[in-house]
Amino acid sequence: MIAELLSVGTELLLGEIVDTNSAFLAQDLARRGVDILWSQRVGDNLGRVTLALGQALARSDAVILCGGLGPTDDDLTREAIAAVVGETPTVDPGLERTLRDRFLSYGMREMPERNLKQAWLIPSAEALPNPQGTAPGWFVRTTLDGAPRWLIALPGPPRELRPMWLNEAVPRLKLSPAALYSKTFKTHNIGESTVAERLGSLTDGANPSVATYAKRDGVQVRVAAKADTPEAAAARAASVESRVRELLRDRVWGEDDDELAAVILEKLSAKGQTLATMESLTGGLLGDLLTSVPGASAAYEGGVVAYREHQKAAFGVPQTLLETHGSVSAEAARAMAELAATRFESDYGLATTGVAGPGGSEGKPVGEIHLAVFRRVDGADTVRSLQFPPLERNWVRERAAFAALSLLWSVLSA
Ligand code: ATP
Ligand code: MG
Repeated sequence: MIAELLSVGTELLLGEIVDTNSAFLAQDLARRGVDILWSQRVGDNLGRVTLALGQALARSDAVILCGGLGPTDDDLTREAIAAVVGETPTVDPGLERTLRDRFLSYGMREMPERNLKQAWLIPSAEALPNPQGTAPGWFVRTTLDGAPRWLIALPGPPRELRPMWLNEAVPRLKLSPAALYSKTFKTHNIGESTVAERLGSLTDGANPSVATYAKRDGVQVRVAAKADTPEAAAARAASVESRVRELLRDRVWGEDDDELAAVILEKLSAKGQTLATMESLTGGLLGDLLTSVPGASAAYEGGVVAYREHQKAAFGVPQTLLETHGSVSAEAARAMAELAATRFESDYGLATTGVAGPGGSEGKPVGEIHLAVFRRVDGADTVRSLQFPPLERNWVRERAAFAALSLLWSVLSA
């Protein structure tokens, strides 16, 4: 089945709200093995919604609309559907009763008359109940040149749309069993083009497909396959999956839902070891990433943000070191990692320093980063200095935090 999404609302076109409904529906449909070849957004304009819907119906088996089911004049989705299938809406007595009762139970004396259009139906539409709101959805079964077509209208608010889609629309679609299998490999210390080079022609396939994505914690490679059953889909992906695993073996730190901070804390807890941080340019991002992992206290002792130079000195970074090398230096990062481990009495210390921008500081360019790991048991240190592209401040800071976690992962995995 080919499905198409049509989100209705001028707010979406103006960028005032983000179309999270499409993202939700697209992910859910993909998981059910339904192909999505088109996805559109259109404003609250009857002519244009009707035009977009007509185009969608001509090229897709199912069109899922969201938004525009409210009671006001700019809620036009029902009118557009009626126009496209050539039917006239009438008030459905059952829906009208439910709607009026709903208003009474809200404690309002009477339903505003303009809400009556939420009780409309056309002959080919079945109403989808909406326990979360007033507007029922529409499930329309029609045909185009003899071929079956489905039109599904869902309310815009996500907390109404999601249950209606899952509980009411999906069961009515009677999708033939199709299953999507996917395996995501999460890598670090390798750029997207180098990953692509290593994968070679593997990325040309359609089923299984292999795709790369650059994410904040590294490049991800996703192997996906579709078949009638979950087992057949997994089998279809198997040989390509093991090929990809082999090609990226030295760069993979996790799979699927793994998070770098969680993987690190797990490694530490498994050995009964602990970590502390001392941050400069990341300003607590590292601490945030680590403490967002449930159960982080099993391995994370804590950390300090020592932002100004005299605070680094106050926490124990030798003044002479700061004067000789500056606080943006490999030497400062190393000293900070050692201080974190010794002051917090943890097995490992992890530190970040660098220039987030805009504009360089201490004569250093934006994006110059120094990271260090200190291991207390033997005093071993690992320092990594990087030059990121001089992009936006928070991009540099976030990348520095993930690069620090990546360095620690490498140390723990050596
Ligand atoms: P209502 O009865 O509230 O008017 P509706 O079905 O007419 O519902 P819209 O008026 O289009 O829907 O949107 C109502 C609200 O739902 C929007 O203000 C927005 O908060 C949310 N919303 C609408 N469309 C989307 C979308 N595509 N993605 C995320 N949220 C959306
Ligand atoms: Mg509305």
